[in-house]
This record gives sequence, structure tokens and C-alpha cells, in this order.
Amino acid sequence: MTVRQLFVTTALPYANGNFHIGHIMEYIQADIWVRFQRMQGHQVYFVCADDAHGAPIMIAAQKAGITPQQFVANIAKGRQPYLEGFHIAFDNWHSTDGPENHELAQQIYLDLEAAGLIERRTIEQYFDPEKSMFLPDRFIKGICPKCASPDQYGDSCENCGAVYSPTDLLHPRSTLSGATPVLKSSEHFFFKLSHPKCVEYLKTWTQDGKLQSEVANKVKEWFTPNEDGLTGLSDWDISRDAPYFGIEIPNAPGKYFYVWLDAPVGYLASLKNYFAKGGPLARGETRSFENFMASPEVEQYHFIGKDITYFHTLFWPAMLHFSQRKTPNNIFVHGFITVSGEKMSKSRGTGIDPLKYLSIGMNPEWMRYYIAAKLNARVEDVDFNPDDFVARVNADLVGKYINIASRSAGFIGKLFDHRLGALSPEGQALVSQLQGQASSIAQGYEEREFAKVMREIMLLADQVNAFVDQYKPWEAAKKPELRDQLWSTCSTCIECFRLLSLYLKPVLPQLVSSVEAFLGVESLRFEHATQRLGAGWEIGNYKHLMQRVDPAMLDQLFELEPSREIAASNTPTPSNSPSAKDASAGPFIPGGEAIAPEISIDEFAKTDLRIALITACEAVEGSNKLLRLTLDVGEEKTRQVFSGIAKHYQPQDLVGQLTVVVANLAPRAMKFGLSEGMVLAASHAQEKEHPGVFVLTPWPGAKPGMRIH
Ligand SMILES: [Zn+2]
Repeated sequence: MTVRQLFVTTALPYANGNFHIGHIMEYIQADIWVRFQRMQGHQVYFVCADDAHGAPIMIAAQKAGITPQQFVANIAKGRQPYLEGFHIAFDNWHSTDGPENHELAQQIYLDLEAAGLIERRTIEQYFDPEKSMFLPDRFIKGICPKCASPDQYGDSCENCGAVYSPTDLLHPRSTLSGATPVLKSSEHFFFKLSHPKCVEYLKTWTQDGKLQSEVANKVKEWFTPNEDGLTGLSDWDISRDAPYFGIEIPNAPGKYFYVWLDAPVGYLASLKNYFAKGGPLARGETRSFENFMASPEVEQYHFIGKDITYFHTLFWPAMLHFSQRKTPNNIFVHGFITVSGEKMSKSRGTGIDPLKYLSIGMNPEWMRYYIAAKLNARVEDVDFNPDDFVARVNADLVGKYINIASRSAGFIGKLFDHRLGALSPEGQALVSQLQGQASSIAQGYEEREFAKVMREIMLLADQVNAFVDQYKPWEAAKKPELRDQLWSTCSTCIECFRLLSLYLKPVLPQLVSSVEAFLGVESLRFEHATQRLGAGWEIGNYKHLMQRVDPAMLDQLFELEPSREIAASNTPTPSNSPSAKDASAGPFIPGGEAIAPEISIDEFAKTDLRIALITACEAVEGSNKLLRLTLDVGEEKTRQVFSGIAKHYQPQDLVGQLTVVVANLAPRAMKFGLSEGMVLAASHAQEKEHPGVFVLTPWPGAKPGMRIH
């Protein structure tokens, strides 16, 4: 078999926040594929980097009072616990602000300019006279020109969905300074995507059958001619004016590349950085980065989410091709992850915090298996459903696969001195059958049809368990005359368990590494599927390999943080203050908790508190903490709110009562459904000494929907 050489990336995460479960899903998908390729004996270079540039990071850093470099470095420091935690084995993690990226982005630009694909045009743009900077669309707000909604962004209206340019907004203002922006002209640089040679090239590149069919179809829409009748592809504004955190455009003082130009170049920069560090050399790769990338046999693949398809199927291949570089062999596009059917929001994430998942002791390989069991090669969203998660991990992974070892290994150890025996003809046939699935399973991995692969493997596990049920080792062990049959049955199980472990290894690297140690075999690769351990093979002592999920862990994962924890984590407490040492020390700490730092009336006004009528209330099956409240807040429809008061109130006592709800709190996807607000309740920080939770109620006369000022 030819050894393939693969250069694989995931999308570069924007360095303004921690990973959410959507990132983790993408990394798991790519990591499984990469581990599979390595098990085939192929050479893989798997890299990623922080996407460090652009206005949002520059402005966030300003607010934090640090340099953008420091801001990005702080974010980068937090990446490792996620990657290690979920066994995501990138060869290199870099930053688009690294010197390699500056150099590569500038060189690619110069090559594109030489190819006649860069054009300078003067455009008019909003400028903040107080901050002395051109304003990105998202930093301008005003009144929607279509529906007159106030407080809308410069590019589109969240109320009516209209898309417009910032100059169409009525009463525009800068969100940075509050100043009224002024129009100012500036010279911008454009990549001529509409150039006939570009359009022609991309039509071929995107429609030659390599892309997933739904991606190719989507891209085809973008070629459809618009009003100018020429082409659907518009030229791309690739420059931004100083001040901007980015890479300077060569020979153009004060001009920077728009972050989306240098971001994908970061794939190459991270690989180049890996070469500079000597990683490839240590693995026997003697070519330079340049020679490696110039080798026609090197295959290049990018795993991305569906929201950035445009950049990766149009701009990126065009940039590479017309700067005389290797273009991707394919772009692997996946859908989003939803939680119990609720779409994730970038700002509020989902109910799943990956670090919390790890910190409460949930096994990362449960998540890897669950994601694998849901992923296919299409651009479909993946839904994380807590009940489904528990069922698949406990019933399939532990109940079917792990069970095979736990039902047989003990007998081999205790009764047969850890040695495998000869297999019966039925046992031989079963092992052969599992071996015969190797190529189909490998093909499924190659095509990223992971769900199909997991189904195939679990069907094989079903057959092995049926075999165990037929020969009942636990009964045979009681009958000396069935000793040979027992030995054969258990040996068959171990042979099968080795094969299933091999097939699951891309998904469960840590578990299978324990299996390899227990079986006394070298690191499993796909070519080992044709082999057997054989009679006389000595195995180690069996230790239980994987626990079942305790459904209470899911409750914990989705549990709302108690409000005082949120307050405490956001409130800097001087280390010498009494509250830091002992919150119940003195009489000056009301409710066991120091008063939060002062806020302005404007800050308070952001919290919209309303009177709500509790029209229904019920216990939540599967939770001993939550009640599900249906609230009338004077709107057209009622709201569902979950509240952690089940230990303190009977549902029937709350129905018909008025209370107070935070009405503009971002809705939150929880295990049991969406929570659309928060009911206010009081409690003491030292709950053990001062028990009780007290829901707020207004004086008589208040009506649902009234605002609290
Ligand atoms: Zn509007």
C-alpha cells in the first residue's frame, strides 16, 4: 500500500473566547479521521492555530487594558486543557500573528498582485472622529432603514432581517465612542474574484465532484449572476485601515489585510512553524516546508463548519491557485451541534461547557464515541440529547463492547493461567466474520461515515454477545466436563474484543491503549486485523475498562450555576477582606455575601425585571432540583422557565402566584428544554446554617408584564 502524505487542519478558532462544544465536535471529527489514517500507516501532519487578528480582538484588548498580543496569548494559554482533555492530538498549535503567517500572507498577496488580481479602489466608509478609526459594520448602530427598529447593527436588522450597508442606517452612532460617525473616503484593496479567469477556475474546482454534493450545490448558487448580469461572485475587499490588529499590506503604509485574508494562510503558517520546530524531521521527514508543500503527492484537507464554506471553497482555493500554490484536495464541511434540538448561539454557547464536562469527571471518550455515533459525511446538524447520550454509552459502548471482555477475561485469568486456548469451529467462524469487516469499516472511516462505522461495530459486538449467550461461560464454569468449551468461548471473546478494539481505536484512543496493555499487543493498526492472538497467547489481568454514565452527571452538566457562584466569580474580592477569609465572620456581610461592586443606573436598566404570573408548575422528571414553570409575562405567549427550587416548593403552591422574572436574560438550552428567563429568589450564602430559598412576590395589585424600576 502506498503511504499517503496528508496535511490536515481544522478551522482556526477566533481567539476572543474559550472553546465551546461546537469546536470540540469539529476537533473530535478531524482527530478520529487523522488517527484512522495513521492506523493505516499513512503520514499525517495535523495542525491548527489561533485566529488572532481583526477589529473585535483589538477592541476587546483595549477594553481589557492590554495589548492584542497579550489578549491572544491569554486565550491561547487556555486551549491545552480542552485539547488534552478530549484527546485531540494536533501536531502543532500556532497563531496567525506568528512571523510565518506575516511572511506567507504578504508573499501570497504579492503573488496575487503579480497575477493581476489585486485592484485598488476608493470607497466611502464610516469613520469615528473621536476614536480616529474606520468603523467595522458591527461597531455601528442606528435605526433600521426598513422597519425603524432602534439599536440595529450596521450590516443587518435583527428585527426585520433586512440586509443593508451602514450608510443606510438612520441616526448612526459608533458603539465605541457614541459619536456620530462621519463618511470618509479611503483607498481599499480588492481581490478580483469576479475576474473571468478566477470564475472559470473556481467553477471547475468546485464542481469537479470532490466537494460534498450539498456543498457543491450551495456554491453553485453563488455563481448565479446577480443584477450586473456578469457573475455572482463579487470582488473581495481585503484591506482595512489603521488602527487594525493584523498584517501590514506590503508597500501600502497604514493598510492591513482584513483578518479573513490571513486566517486561512494560518494553516500553512502553523505547518511551517512545525517544520521550523523540527517536528517533521524527528518523524523522518527530510523535505523542507517549501518542498513538502510543492510535492504533488501531498494531500491537503480542511475540516470546517458550514458557516465558513464561502471562504474555503472560493477565496481560499483562488488565493492558493493564483499564487502558484497547492490547492486543497478537499474541504470537509460539517453541520452545527444542537443540544436537545436547540440551536447553539455563539454568544451564549450551549448548555454544555466542555471544561465543566471534564471537571465533573465525565469520560472524554464517552463524548468522542457519542459524537462519532452521530456524525456522517453530510452537512447535517448533530443533536446532543442527554438521554440518547446515556443510552448509547451505557447500552452500546459499555453494555455491548466492554461487556465482551468483562464476561470472558476473568475466566481466562483464573482458570487458564491467562492463556488463550484453541477456538472451536464456531469461534473460528465468528472471528473470521469480524476480520472480514475490516475493509468496510476502514472505508467508512475514510469517507467520514462515522455513524455507519459505529453501527457496524456494534452489530459485530451483538453477534459476539449472542455467541456468549449461547455458550454461557458462567454456567460452563461450574461444569468440569465443559472446561474446553469454556476455554474456547472465552478465547473467542478475547480475539473478538481485540478486533473490536482495533476498529474503535480512532474514536477511543486512551481506552484502546489500556486494552493493548491488557492484551500484551503492540499498538494496533488496521493491518493487524488479519492476525489473531492464537492459542497460548498470554493476556494480563483484566481491570474494568470503562464506567457507565451516571445520569446524575448529565444533571450536573446542565445545572444552572447558582447565582452567588456567578457573582463571586465576577467580583474581585480583596484577599484581606473579611469576606475572603470567612463570609460569615461579621455582621457586615448581609446574607453571607458581600455587596457586589457598584453599578450605574444605566447598567441596572439593562436588566429587564417583569411581573410574571405562574400559570402552571410541575416537577421535572429526572431532576430533584428543578421545577418547570409556565409564566405569563403579559406577552402573546407564555414562557417556560426552569428554576432550582424543587426542594423548597410544591408545584401546586406556586400556581396562580405572581413573581418576578428576569425577562431579557438570554434563553438557555438545558437538558430538559429551553429556559426563557429566570425567576428571582432569595437565599443565604451559607445555606447549611441558614436554609431556605424564598421566591419573590410583589404586593397585591401588580399585573403580569409590569416592569420593575
Ligand atoms: Zn428592521
